[in-house]
Amino acid sequence: MPATMPSANRAALPSLDRLLNSAAGARLVERHGHALVVEHLRAVLDAQRRLLAAAPESEAAAASSLLAECGTGIEALLRPSLRPVFNCSGTVLHTNLGRALYPQAAIDAALGAMARPVNLEYDIDGAARGERDSHVEAWLKRLTGAEAAVVVNNNAAAVYLALNTLARRREVVVSRGELVEIGGSFRIPDIMASAGCKLREVGTTNRTHARDFEGAIGKSTGALMKVHTSNYTIQGFTAMVAESELAAIAARHGVPLINDLGCGMLLNLEDYGLPHEPTAREAIAAGADIVTFSGDKLLGGPQCGLIVGRRDLIARIRKNPMKRALRLDKVRLAALAAVLRLYARPDQLTTTLPTLRLLTRTASEIAALAARMLPPLSAAVADRASARVVECASQIGSGALPVASLPSAGIALLPAGKRKSAAADALAAAFRGLPIPVIGHIREGELILDLRCLEDEAGFVGQLEQLGMPATAP
Ligand SMILES: *Cc1c(COP(=O)(O)O)cnc(C)c1O
Repeated sequence: MPATMPSANRAALPSLDRLLNSAAGARLVERHGHALVVEHLRAVLDAQRRLLAAAPESEAAAASSLLAECGTGIEALLRPSLRPVFNCSGTVLHTNLGRALYPQAAIDAALGAMARPVNLEYDIDGAARGERDSHVEAWLKRLTGAEAAVVVNNNAAAVYLALNTLARRREVVVSRGELVEIGGSFRIPDIMASAGCKLREVGTTNRTHARDFEGAIGKSTGALMKVHTSNYTIQGFTAMVAESELAAIAARHGVPLINDLGCGMLLNLEDYGLPHEPTAREAIAAGADIVTFSGDKLLGGPQCGLIVGRRDLIARIRKNPMKRALRLDKVRLAALAAVLRLYARPDQLTTTLPTLRLLTRTASEIAALAARMLPPLSAAVADRASARVVECASQIGSGALPVASLPSAGIALLPAGKRKSAAADALAAAFRGLPIPVIGHIREGELILDLRCLEDEAGFVGQLEQLGMPATAP
């Protein structure tokens, strides 16, 4: 029966006006405004009419339930889709969870820049600060040993801008073993093509020699490029050209060497008991003309891309019209400036820089945390699953040190019942359904919550009673 047909039940459906003028309707209007309530009530009434037209024998819904449905619909619309989660994935710099957390100093600086006018490109004191990058350039020079620095939206933009400025319509020589893909959307060959450069691969996947580079350099060479193979390693019969040797070859032929460092640590991670990751200072010292790296990986700051290197080349990069399209906004610039200043006190970084704080947490500290979390987690899953403390191996993430793992601890939740795999999925979904979703991972039928990144214990425990447990699998 078409929706326009009259029926007794449709007549029983309250009118829009009656709903709006009811006490509950007025409360909704007070809370959400007239327009939103009318829009949603119309939708709810339309849905009811279609339902009744399809099933004329059924009863029209009561006004109270129509208004409740309207309220739920408005709340769903207004609920932010981007929201905080608990990262129990075991990956510290998780790209899909937003990578590095801002240090408190960076949060304060960012808030200040958001709420008030700032001297972003305004020379207050005659110190020639008419250029936005000047707020971080001195610190980047200090921390990397480079002559100059530019900041852009992310490292992909940094690589693009460097290539486009220095080697457009020319060949860029790269070892075959370094044509990496980072997270699907960043692939060296693709970025090179979009920057207008011609990729010239040399060597083989596992071995590239100095003579391969020498042989490929010619009139059309725009640059040599080195890419830090941050998310995989090649083992066995391998050879690559040392950075200093590559730099010497580039210098001899008068072409720049661009080094895409990826993570680009600013200090020696070994000083903090972690595996070595190449630093920007080392890359500059080895002779790279341009070094690019991310701000929100191991550096522990906001999403941005840093380009450091030779003064003349940086000046050209700064003049590229695309710099304007890729530039950093005042909020992230303020945050980055604050983060770089934290590096003035390397002895305090394991406290002040969340990324380093989380990476340097010891397995025994995390195991003690897991022991504290066991009783509330056991209680929350009740008889639907059993909980136990387990050893974990955290990853740094974001491509850093792909084979290194950090000893950690967590809670394993083993669902009761038979169909373990489906039950573990349901359990994981229940934890993701919490007000602050808890993100774990499933391993052999168990939901594993690696607690390395859990700092807000009270917030974590406080919401557990809201865990909507799935029915036990039959
Ligand atoms: C992460 C990474 C990139 C991409 O950096 P984004 O900041 O994510 O744009 C490029 N190159 C290397 C080597 C990387 O590790």
